[in-house]
Amino acid sequence: MEQWMLDLRNSVTKGETVDETYNVSVGEINEVRKVYPMRIPRYYYNLIQEKGDPIWMQAVPSIQEVQDEEAPEDPLNEDGDSPVPRLTHRYPDRVLFLITDRCPMYCRFCTRKRMVGRASDITEKTIAMGIEYIRNHSEIRDVLISGGDPLMVSDQKLEHIIARLRTIPHVQVIRIGTKFPCVLPSRITDNLCNMLKKYHPMYVNTHFNHPREITPEAKEACERLVNAGIPVGCQTVLMRGVNDDPEVMKELMHKLLMMRVRPYYLYQADLTRGTNHFRTRVEVGLQIIQALRGHTTGFAVPQFVIDAPGGGGKIPLMPEYVQRLDDKEVVLKNFEGKEYHYPQVDRQYVKDAREIELINF
Ligand SMILES: *Cc1c(COP(=O)(O)O)cnc(C)c1O
Ligand code: SF4
Repeated sequence: MEQWMLDLRNSVTKGETVDETYNVSVGEINEVRKVYPMRIPRYYYNLIQEKGDPIWMQAVPSIQEVQDEEAPEDPLNEDGDSPVPRLTHRYPDRVLFLITDRCPMYCRFCTRKRMVGRASDITEKTIAMGIEYIRNHSEIRDVLISGGDPLMVSDQKLEHIIARLRTIPHVQVIRIGTKFPCVLPSRITDNLCNMLKKYHPMYVNTHFNHPREITPEAKEACERLVNAGIPVGCQTVLMRGVNDDPEVMKELMHKLLMMRVRPYYLYQADLTRGTNHFRTRVEVGLQIIQALRGHTTGFAVPQFVIDAPGGGGKIPLMPEYVQRLDDKEVVLKNFEGKEYHYPQVDRQYVKDAREIELINF
């Protein structure tokens, strides 16, 4: 058995195994566990410094999860947009393909809380159906392999899936979404990277939410992927009490760049049942973007998005930089709040049909 599998087996999975020095209610943790699974790799558990800190909040079950009865279970309507089981085809040219329901850690804020870590309906057969769907739809040029966490499956099994996708001529890009570099970096082995790099262009998106998650081990894992020629991006979830602070977020983005990980999305927390206590006001995210844009490296700034409830996809949000746009000029506000005017091209010089159409739009 590989080291990461042993590490996984050694995870904290019960109220009883949470260190008693933390003085927790084992009963409450176990009550939550009856509804939502619990697993915390020892590596991640050891990043906790005190009860209730940002690492703790993401990992240890809270009674608030089972007190939240308002939010829907599948807010993004992923099940509704699935032409075959566990494949979501929402955008014209790309799909989300779920190949497992298991994760190295069961994050308390997870959008797919309703299905991860339970009896799964994902089988060899649903995976084969997903691959066939992709093969039969030549508009699909980008396949996002996700889960659960797709790196929960063995290298061999994962390769069997990726290799089949690579036989499909219209599949240009294959992406993997994984939490492992953050919660169990020992999974990112040389063997894994050597396998992945046979199937380029491969991209990985990982998921860090707090600067304290960026450790020497996490850095080594991300660098191993990058050194295999795989661009690594990061999706971060904005959460109350975890990272809802411009300074914390800036430190996180800077630390990501130091391990050659490119910030990609900053997600407004979804409306998922059991996660309501993590939601912030939308203004908090806008304020964070405002604090980053112009104040730090352009590519340290993720795109702030709301995954629209009901399945509208990711919708970007921006602080208001355009104050006014009319026939004569655009009035802009820069990162320091100062106003600038940029004159329009006079209508009489516009000959291009497409541009005329835009003016009249
Ligand atoms: C996020 C997502 C994608 C990928 O979106 P990008 O903006 O290209 O990263 C594709 N399909 C679904 C259903 C998604 O939720
Ligand atoms: S690893 Fe991803 S899918 Fe799994 S529980 Fe965490 S956020 Fe959810």
